[in-house]
Amino acid sequence: MSKFFSPAHASLTAYTPGEQPQDKKYIKLNTNEAPFSPPQAVLDAVNSAEVSRLNLYPDPDCNLLREAIAKKYGVSKNQVILGNGSDEILQYLFLAFSYGNCGAAFPDITYGFYKVFAALYNIEAEKIPLCENFEISYKDYLNKNKTIFIANPNAPTGIMMPLSEIEEIAASNPGNVVVIDEAYVDFGGESAIKLLPKYKNLVICRTFSKSRSLAGARLGFAIADEEIINDLNTVRCSLNPYNINRLTLLAGKAAIESDEYYDGICGEIIKNREELTEELEKIGFSVLPSKANFIFAKHKTLGGEMLYKELKEKGVLVRHFKDSRICDFLRITIGTKEECNILLSKLKEITN
Ligand SMILES: *Cc1c(COP(=O)(O)O)cnc(C)c1O
Repeated sequence: MSKFFSPAHASLTAYTPGEQPQDKKYIKLNTNEAPFSPPQAVLDAVNSAEVSRLNLYPDPDCNLLREAIAKKYGVSKNQVILGNGSDEILQYLFLAFSYGNCGAAFPDITYGFYKVFAALYNIEAEKIPLCENFEISYKDYLNKNKTIFIANPNAPTGIMMPLSEIEEIAASNPGNVVVIDEAYVDFGGESAIKLLPKYKNLVICRTFSKSRSLAGARLGFAIADEEIINDLNTVRCSLNPYNINRLTLLAGKAAIESDEYYDGICGEIIKNREELTEELEKIGFSVLPSKANFIFAKHKTLGGEMLYKELKEKGVLVRHFKDSRICDFLRITIGTKEECNILLSKLKEITN
């Protein structure tokens, strides 16, 4: 730390992304990326003619992509905002609705960025423990008087909360924003977008990083009531009105119009997830019921850190968290069938 660093940040612990090794070639099952490239339509959209226009700023209103997203989800363009990854939108949400206001509430075990944003902006955050079986108890979120952040499916558990329970949370907190982070909803979950007409306090957050094979493009979006989107735009334009670059705008539009391709690859991931779960159970793992492109699994006798290290030795990267409640689990991204098979054979070597 330099002597110039604000004491306000002295105890800040930054978000730790999963390893992105640039040297050795691993089977990468640690950061929930898609194992498939984006469709040809995306490659065609990001062409050299477009690269040659990088001397010009992008559209700060992102009109074409917002229209395409609005069309797909049956909402108005004014209900859509884009972010440089959905992480950026989460940041806007903390700034717009919690900062200097009512604080925030989210599960103790959930996406790690929530607590980082809360700490960065000195926002009081209530971390509500998950149940014994790692589900979120919706009753803990009724009448909270705080901005609520819920990842659904939750990460890193993969467990999905039913829409009826989200509805209870939204209905009982009419004076507060309720954020549903649906980063993984395309892998068999049910979106809360359909609740938007009824609940003006709901914000649905989405990303192109997981189900749309565009983690490297950095693109996310949120859908909510127009007034909420206006507030988020005030924050966005106070930070970076050109937050989405020209190439990502084009890639995103081509991607949102390629549903057939993505339905196919999401279907494949779901199938691989179910098969891998079954195989892991045969070799002594218990696996939480996942609706995401990852599973959260724990061996009956072997510790999580040891399994993580041995797998890394053998060229397979998975995610391990040190928090005491989940330190015996591995979060394993669902890859191609071939990647799942390699993971399985390495785990068989280790557990035998
Ligand atoms: C991956 C992830 C995000 C962030 O995705 P971006 O790459 O920033 O779009 C947000 N929320 C959850 C729960 C995630 O797992």
